[in-house]
Amino acid sequence: MLYDSKVPIKGFNKHEFKAATVKECKVNRNKNTYSDDVLEKLYNLALDIQYILEYRFNNKPTKCFKEQYLTKLKEHGLANITGRIKQKELLENFVDYYGDKFLKLVQSDIDIHSNYNWLTELVRNNKKTSHPIRHLLLIRFLGISIHDLFNQKFEYEPFGQGPWSCLNPAADHYLQNTIKDIDIKYSADSKSPQGIFKCACGFTYVRNGPDRTIEDKYKISRVKQYGCVWESKLKHFAELGLSLREIARKLKVDPATVNKYAAKLGIDKGWKTGKKDIKKKKVSIFDENIKNNKRKEWLQLQSKYPNKSKTELRKLNKGLYMWLYRNDRQWLDANSPNCKEVENNFNRIDWEERDKEIYYKVKKAVSKIEEKDGKPKRITVSLIGSELGIKSLLEKHLDKLPMTKKYLDTVVDDIRDYQIKRIKWAIKEMKKENEEIKIWKVLRKAGIRNDYRENLKSKIFSLIKEHTKRGEQL
Ligand SMILES: [Zn+2]
Repeated sequence: MLYDSKVPIKGFNKHEFKAATVKECKVNRNKNTYSDDVLEKLYNLALDIQYILEYRFNNKPTKCFKEQYLTKLKEHGLANITGRIKQKELLENFVDYYGDKFLKLVQSDIDIHSNYNWLTELVRNNKKTSHPIRHLLLIRFLGISIHDLFNQKFEYEPFGQGPWSCLNPAADHYLQNTIKDIDIKYSADSKSPQGIFKCACGFTYVRNGPDRTIEDKYKISRVKQYGCVWESKLKHFAELGLSLREIARKLKVDPATVNKYAAKLGIDKGWKTGKKDIKKKKVSIFDENIKNNKRKEWLQLQSKYPNKSKTELRKLNKGLYMWLYRNDRQWLDANSPNCKEVENNFNRIDWEERDKEIYYKVKKAVSKIEEKDGKPKRITVSLIGSELGIKSLLEKHLDKLPMTKKYLDTVVDDIRDYQIKRIKWAIKEMKKENEEIKIWKVLRKAGIRNDYRENLKSKIFSLIKEHTKRGEQL
């Protein structure tokens, strides 16, 4: 970076050497006419240019790139399945991403109201060539790795790469990636992809794509088939005496669905939904008296057997239970011991095993991330979750996965951990390049923000010292 100095070029002894010291050079950052944002974009573009110049990629026909771009445009929802590019949206998003100022600076500004502009031409299926810088702008905008662009054929995967999660709440493997194959169809109405996910447990769901966020992986558009595991769990819950609503909640469906399948499976619990329930509530004074007596009886039974569960109490006085169940269910639910025991039993078995399994997967994912070349990534729960396709599970249920949680606590990077990781990497890289290792260079290469620099200087100093002493140790 060049700065103005106080030493004039003319009218001075030109044979005298003046070193560029801080005192001699006015460091006046305000003079910089570019905003940080624009500077960063220029810097990124420079990096991409350097990359493409340094690595000699094989030549490829223009058509090849256009196909790759189209695949990525589909992924971003900027082209539909049939390959029609949503030009207006593309232009708006692109300009929004780079900003007018920056685009003008690299002589690639775009008038989004005009039908003719370089970006439209670049993505269109034609033989026209475009300036490499414009390709690079599009490549970065689409989030494509230059290396992959040349070495990989992109496939449009509206539901990401498998395996995919089973979303059957009744299965032991709920939220685990058990589905290896999916059918993708195209919905002609919405012109969007539709995935059919069928698990070996029989649970089959349809999801409208494409996935925009990790969370979408857990959204069901429609259940095609619940399957035998789900049905037998429904039967089991009904036998335990759980209420219609409780079962619906556990199986993540609405009560009407539970009722429908209960009927199909020949389970008669006298469940009623909706309107019928309300009608029932209109009891006469006569019924009111019976009701109060029944309530009293139920409470007495509980105080007589304070340790018994709802199911056990039901067995002790089935008639009483059934009367309350049919006529006064809300009260019964609110005034009965919870079925905690039973519930915990289910959960304990499921979660313990899942914890173990996830722990190993997470460990593997972490070492994979750490082994990767290039600038280190910050290890976070969500990064690991994304890598494994279980982000939602890790973020929402980590408390149920103690083994995994304990491990994650030791490997997740806080800001400082991550800064030090980058610094170590920067020193290592500079060593590789035989560059002279200076603190300011390390800071810049590691991408440490100005406000953190002071705090880290002594740490870097000791790391550099360590490095010169122990050679490859870093
Ligand atoms: Zn399943």
